[in-house]
Amino acid sequence: MELTDIKSFDLDELTEYIVSLGEPKFRAKQLYEWMHVRLVPGYDEMTNIPASLKAKLKENTFYASLYPERVQVSKEDGTSKYLFRLYDGNYIESVLMHYHHGDSVCISSQAGCRMGCRFCASTLDGLARNLYPSEMLDQIYRIQSLTGNRVSNVVVMGSGEPFDNFDNFIKFEKLLTDENGLNISARNLTVSTCGLVPRIYELADMRLQITLAISLHSPTDEMRKKLMPVANKYSISEIMDACSYYIEKTGRRITFEYSLVKGENDGSEHALILADLVKGMNCHINLIPVNPIKERDYRQSDTKSIKKFKDILEKNRIQVTVRREMGRDIDGACGQLRKRYMDDNAAKI
Ligand code: SAH
Repeated sequence: MELTDIKSFDLDELTEYIVSLGEPKFRAKQLYEWMHVRLVPGYDEMTNIPASLKAKLKENTFYASLYPERVQVSKEDGTSKYLFRLYDGNYIESVLMHYHHGDSVCISSQAGCRMGCRFCASTLDGLARNLYPSEMLDQIYRIQSLTGNRVSNVVVMGSGEPFDNFDNFIKFEKLLTDENGLNISARNLTVSTCGLVPRIYELADMRLQITLAISLHSPTDEMRKKLMPVANKYSISEIMDACSYYIEKTGRRITFEYSLVKGENDGSEHALILADLVKGMNCHINLIPVNPIKERDYRQSDTKSIKKFKDILEKNRIQVTVRREMGRDIDGACGQLRKRYMDDNAAKI
């Protein structure tokens, strides 16, 4: 992009940029507040910024502001799914969930994904492009503006692999937790990865207080390779070593995500191997009944197998929860809404 991505600047960078335009420093502070606290969708809303500066900025900058193309609200639990259009015609989706502890937004980190997990809809058409920090932020900003409710938690668990867009993710984290911006604590931010091991070490060394979630989905390399191509690159034991390092450096508990697929990874024998794998580790296991997508014939484990799987983990004193499914009636699974919308529109052309 040739234009300056103004919403990806932190306050220091913005100040430097504004000064380079020959403007006084205090304008940076004003602009930053309009963008990151008042969350306005464009320069026109900024009432205390002179027209001459607005004109200069319109000419030289890219002001990320996502357009809500579609919003689907679940009748079951009030979860909302937003399909946002990006400036270049790409689409991404974000989800708003209401919990007793506040509103939580699940954001995308890329348009599409290149990781190729077999059960996931986001990756079926590959990676379109990385999102800029400003575009990750604006998913939260737009949703907070549209609902009028403060977002208290953010999970980077939508489409895309955040560690495949690592630098932009880190910049996003910095802006999200900035006391001059939304000031969301790193402790209220969760990032989920399919297990790009070098990035786990890199993040650990930054000693941020982010919650790290690992998409494990199988207790053996052999089985994991069938579900997740990334398993050909990094073994489970390499992931576990990296996780222990993360815990050591940050003191944070790790979450392992495990999607239960009927007849694949949901047997008692799998639960036992999994229990062995994480025993003694400061972690928590999130069991997720797989959300079937029409392109693949993976089916959800039945209630009995899920309960048995959970019981085995609990007997081994492992903290485990079965994730409450939210938004099943609104294409809740990652990338389903985007894919369906884009396929429908392609069919119309
Ligand atoms: N790329 C990151 C984050 C995005 S996916 C990662 O792999 O963690 C967020 C979570 O949803 C991951 O655990 C992913 O494996 C899971 N997921 C994707 N499609 C799913 C589906 N159809 N059913 C259940 N979980 C799914």
